[in-house]
Amino acid sequence: MKPIVAIIGRPNVGKSTLFNRIVISRKAIVEREAGVTRDRIYADAEWSGRQFIIVDTGGLGSESDEFGPLIEEQAKAAVQEADTILMLVDARVGVLPDDLEVADLLRRAGKPVIVAANKAETERLRQSSQEFFSLGLGEPWPVSAAHGMGVGDLLDAVVDLLPPPSPDGDEAPSQRPPTFAVIGRPTVGKSSLV
Ligand code: GDP
Ligand code: MG
Repeated sequence: MKPIVAIIGRPNVGKSTLFNRIVISRKAIVEREAGVTRDRIYADAEWSGRQFIIVDTGGLGSESDEFGPLIEEQAKAAVQEADTILMLVDARVGVLPDDLEVADLLRRAGKPVIVAANKAETERLRQSSQEFFSLGLGEPWPVSAAHGMGVGDLLDAVVDLLPPPSPDGDEAPSQRPPTFAVIGRPTVGKSSLV
């Protein structure tokens, strides 16, 4: 069994955008049990040699702006099945009562949680995202899912919180490390760069 990382948070904070940035392949998305997973999508992900399942709790459809029982249900279900939880908030909006409600639920769940403040594309936003410390879930990680900023550091932290790899080989690291090709016209400096 690969560990499961669930992205949860209010509508429109950028959960699906972050999910799409993290997944290896959209093709890997699996509907597990019909009905139960209608509001969640799953995909394979890998970072630093650790393989895991990433879950977008927002579902496939467009989310309404209304917070309420639906989000709470999703958060609860995500907490139940996830090994590690990635709580996403909106750095541009700041702390909202709904964020506090989600954080409360997560704190009581006793599972590892990482808070990421999305849409933090400017230095000012990266600094103000520290206000999410008040959620009581540790240091907030400023990211921009849309632009990929901070996502690598965030994934380093997520992978650190995963349970140790299972010995059944299900999670064996890829056979070879990633390879990169440097291409370009002659004498542009390819060899020097390598
Ligand atoms: P979800 O409802 O939490 O799944 O949020 P979405 O991923 O659908 O994103 C909601 C809106 O926020 C969309 O208009 C996105 O384009 C926008 N968005 C997502 N990530 C970022 C980001 O990193 N920066 C900015 N500026 N906008 C973002
Ligand atoms: Mg979504």
